[in-house]
Amino acid sequence: MSERFFLGSPARSGQATLVGDEARHLARVLRAKVGDLVRVFDGSGGEWSARVTQIDRDAVALDVGDQLPTAPLPERSVTLAVALPRGGRQKWLVEKLTELGVARLVPLVTERGVAEATESARARLERGVVEACKQCGRNTLMEIAEPATLESLAAALPPGAVRLIAHPDGIALDALSRPAPGGAVVAAVGPEGGFTPKEILVADRQGFERASLGPHILRIETAAVALAARLM
Ligand code: SAH
Repeated sequence: MSERFFLGSPARSGQATLVGDEARHLARVLRAKVGDLVRVFDGSGGEWSARVTQIDRDAVALDVGDQLPTAPLPERSVTLAVALPRGGRQKWLVEKLTELGVARLVPLVTERGVAEATESARARLERGVVEACKQCGRNTLMEIAEPATLESLAAALPPGAVRLIAHPDGIALDALSRPAPGGAVVAAVGPEGGFTPKEILVADRQGFERASLGPHILRIETAAVALAARLM
């Protein structure tokens, strides 16, 4: 069996335990047996082979073995700050950004935003990251940051980070600044109602360049995924 499972605690050679959804997936859905081989990752970049040693109702004990070779990390660190859409579209967004290798998703608090940044919403997003990592082979979790406004986001950025704001009236993305390899870029995407003139003014003052993604008005998640794909 070469399925991948997420270990909530750091993986090291020796004993480890899968709990919660991960244990249920392995024990009940895949009906694992003692002795089966799986692969585990702990979100910090590595992947290990592991053998099932005991199966209980809500926990599966593993013997973690050798660390497996893994793909190199992306060249640049891309942060997407997105006024989150609702429900299923939010889930899709998290899945695609994780697959593309985005380092961090910041739920962007905007005047016209609709999705509430509750703790349960956050837990759902984090679960979506783990699910996407499991299936796409990514070994570092995409970070779900604390919700931020454009102002608080700008205040927390590393010096030298390229700042972009997706806006239909912007300049073609290819004509704008690109981060050097190893550099950081943050790109903001607004809510369905768009950014308010006041928010655009704040973004201007904070050094965000306006980036256009073409002549059509895109849904939030389409704009975010298009930006991520072009920036990675
Ligand atoms: N009625 C809004 C559209 C909002 S679409 C308006 O006219 O601004 C949701 C978000 O997706 C926008 O705030 C913007 O950040 C991004 N977006 C949508 N289409 C885009 C495009 N063609 N170019 C750049 N960003 C776009």
